[in-house]
Amino acid sequence: MSKEMPQSKPHILILGAGFGGVYVAKRLLKQVRAGKIDLTIVNRTNYFLFTPLLHEVATGALTPGSVAEPLREVFHKTNVQVIQGNIDSIDAAKKTATISGTPILYDYLVIATGAETNYYGISGAEKFSLPLKNLLDAARIRSRVIDSFEKAALSNDPAERARLLSFAVVGGGATGVEMAAELSEFAEAIAKRYYREMNWPADEVQISIVDTGPELLQMFAPKLRKTAMKHLQKEGVALHMNSSVTSVSADGLTLSGNISIPAATVIWSAGVKAIIPKFEGTQPVLVKGRMTVDNHFVLTDASASNTFNTIFVLGDAAGYPTPVPMLAQVAENQAKVVASNLLASIAGRPLSGFIYNSKGSMVSLGQWFAIGEIFSLKISGRLTWWLWRTVYLFKFASFKKRVRIMFEWSLAVFFPRDITKITGE
Ligand SMILES: Cc1cc2nc3c(=O)[nH]c(=O)nc-3n(C[C@H](O)[C@H](O)[C@H](O)COP(=O)(O)OP(=O)(O)OC[C@H]3O[C@@H](n4cnc5c(N)ncnc54)[C@H](O)[C@@H]3O)c2cc1C
Repeated sequence: MSKEMPQSKPHILILGAGFGGVYVAKRLLKQVRAGKIDLTIVNRTNYFLFTPLLHEVATGALTPGSVAEPLREVFHKTNVQVIQGNIDSIDAAKKTATISGTPILYDYLVIATGAETNYYGISGAEKFSLPLKNLLDAARIRSRVIDSFEKAALSNDPAERARLLSFAVVGGGATGVEMAAELSEFAEAIAKRYYREMNWPADEVQISIVDTGPELLQMFAPKLRKTAMKHLQKEGVALHMNSSVTSVSADGLTLSGNISIPAATVIWSAGVKAIIPKFEGTQPVLVKGRMTVDNHFVLTDASASNTFNTIFVLGDAAGYPTPVPMLAQVAENQAKVVASNLLASIAGRPLSGFIYNSKGSMVSLGQWFAIGEIFSLKISGRLTWWLWRTVYLFKFASFKKRVRIMFEWSLAVFFPRDITKITGE
């Protein structure tokens, strides 16, 4: 079955409802009078995922439902059509995208499919480590941590217990660091509260971060990197710098120089690669694995035949002429330009370019501590942590989610974290 759209109104089809896709749709809704365009958004899940707080789900500070907003709620009382389905393929010549077997006609296509975990072909990495990209990943990490404690409680073998209680995070970027810091507090708290009677040596629970660089958080100023590393070391996190992972197994990690880190739990935050949908016929040009776009976000095609002149790509999947980091705030900023370029295209007006001005970024290092760079200001400590939480809280569109998150954060401060293990691991 093919979904024909009325010819009079242009049909904009958005593939991917993450930061790029959802913000393009929101922007269009702001700029266009209701009924002037047909708008459809497609996503694999039926919700928008707020990735910056995913590490808190992995450590039980937040429940999964708090960081996800159902798309039908986001677009409630609008004329946006929401489709939950898989993007099978795109046929630019026929102006069709096939979603879970159903072809959908479009006039303009927006691709915002984001990125997935990159294991760089390292032996055992995909099989034995846990990624942190979606809600299921976060739930799996939480289960694995709890399960490791339960198994360690049963083991009389000190080496096996050490392996079970060792948690390694690969990748010292913002995601890996936030995950390790939060994990360190979570593991220490549950060890003290629930497994005290085991008489494990105090340092038996071990959290490590492995990174190829000499310092963590390369995107921050040297002063903040040092502050972050000092803070993590004070919290007992072992930092393996200038180390590349050569293999991962059920026993743990092997690093360059044949160094082994026994660890039953390895969390992989070492990098991502763009998700490229399947194209029938004309193929997109890929540079560094991302879909190349011109400075108006129009997809470049290999044959320069104009087949893609109604296809726009943004966010993690797009390779913009001036390189930009794979960040939510980049996707959000690009969405503004893509939305106005879509409208300019429809009206036959000239399209605009994009300049990325970072508003700064912050990284939390567990409860009560964060570092941040806001414009040229370098800040760290409790106040930065409070600012970090406030900024993210106000990013949520729905008031209901904000209240829920505030409530769960308060619970996590005053009460022990829940160690009910629901998903199997
Ligand atoms: C754990 C974590 C923490 C992060 N923290 C921060 C942070 O603090 N600050 C920051 O700025 N950035 C952060 N990021 C990066 C940020 O999430 C991304 O840069 C941003 O989401 C990119 O937006 P996007 O629209 O390109 O992709 P996404 O937001 O990933 O959206 C892509 C969407 O496309 C859907 N999709 C993909 N393939 C298909 C398919 N075949 N069929 C159907 N649907 C499909 C996906 O389900 C997804 O919903 C973090 C990322 C992670 C994983």
